[in-house]
Amino acid sequence: MKTNFQLGEQVSTKSSRSKVRYAVVGLGHIAQVAVLPAFKTARNSELAALVSGDPHKRKALAKKYRVTQVFSYEEYDQVLSLVDAVYLALPNHLHKEYAVSAAEAGVHVLCEKPMAVTEDECETMIAAAEKNRIKLMVAYRLHFEKGNLEAIRVVKSGRLGKPRIFCSDFAQQVKAKNVRVTEPVSRGGGPVYDMGVYCINAARYLFGTEPTKVLAVTARVRERRFQKVEEMMSAVLYFPGERLASFTCSFGAADISRYTVVGTTGVLTSDPAYEYAMDIDQQVIAEGRKSKRTFAKRDQFAAEINYFSDCILKNRTPEPSGLEGLADVRVVRALYESTSSGAAVELPPFPRKKKPSIVQEIQRPAHGKPQTVDSESPTLESA
Ligand code: NDP
Repeated sequence: MKTNFQLGEQVSTKSSRSKVRYAVVGLGHIAQVAVLPAFKTARNSELAALVSGDPHKRKALAKKYRVTQVFSYEEYDQVLSLVDAVYLALPNHLHKEYAVSAAEAGVHVLCEKPMAVTEDECETMIAAAEKNRIKLMVAYRLHFEKGNLEAIRVVKSGRLGKPRIFCSDFAQQVKAKNVRVTEPVSRGGGPVYDMGVYCINAARYLFGTEPTKVLAVTARVRERRFQKVEEMMSAVLYFPGERLASFTCSFGAADISRYTVVGTTGVLTSDPAYEYAMDIDQQVIAEGRKSKRTFAKRDQFAAEINYFSDCILKNRTPEPSGLEGLADVRVVRALYESTSSGAAVELPPFPRKKKPSIVQEIQRPAHGKPQTVDSESPTLESA
């Protein structure tokens, strides 16, 4: 039985706690502006340890968040012996390695999106979670956000008639030194792994099914930041029932974050749709009326952490599961295959899985933007 002593206080064993104890792994931008502050209001969860390669960050953030257990990546095994769960906020190509090590140590995994770079990596993560009986969730924060869940409810209710078209634009101006453009697509760089997954995920949750065929085109201007990754991709996803979804995601255009669902009799638009640091706005034109709603900014990260801890404490399978992460990654990979071949790519049938719905809504209060340590925003200031 492991017992760990810190600051003269006995820290109880993993299994005896009512709160889930987390290590946040990788203290980059999203960890600092969203994940670490979320523990304040994720009631059933405790920020127990920090893992970073940067000693200055380790010291400053340990002090700021009053965390006594801080580690380098070389000490990851030690971290895993102290916590119940890890929140992986690492670059995409590292998700699989850190998730599998955690699973093998019996530690639950909440992994940032995209789940991983390839279907094989996702399947390895799912298998490791099943084998070691740990919970695995992909951090799709919008699965707990009211505006997006309301959009699902409106579409399902038939208020728009039959949903026929989904279209979306998601763009930002990414800095040349950011990991999103310094890592090649083969390691999860580029706008599709970063932003396109939100569009794919939204098309899937709004249509409530899986695409069966995809087609894509990329484009780039001659700039240093687009040497390893494309600037943008436009994609078309064919869904059963003769429905089409299309989206463009870009690292070289002004901030935009919106989608529209067009039904046979009505239209729903969310703009912004995918954000965590601002309100989500929605407009529905249906039944001869136009209505607008604003869903106030809330802490989407506290919500997802709270939900995941609940799954651990109550032994429930999370939605979004590993399968949900895989469902998006296989589409990303098919889109890139389509850009190489110039042809549409067929997708095999995918197992049926639970979809997000309004019952998953969790509200946690918003917080201001924290000051960061040795980390900067991925984007240039734009529109
Ligand atoms: P950053 O580059 O800002 O942070 C990643 C951190 O990972 C680094 O700061 C570093 O932390 C650590 N790291 C460890 N090894 C490496 C390595 N080889 N190269 C670079 N960094 C390394 O990225 P983000 O925080 O923006 O993104 C992290 C993850 O979060 C990604 O998967 C991304 O898709 C996801 N994300 C999710 C968002 C959401 O809304 N859910 C929004 C933005 C990102 P340290 O110095 O502490 O070791």
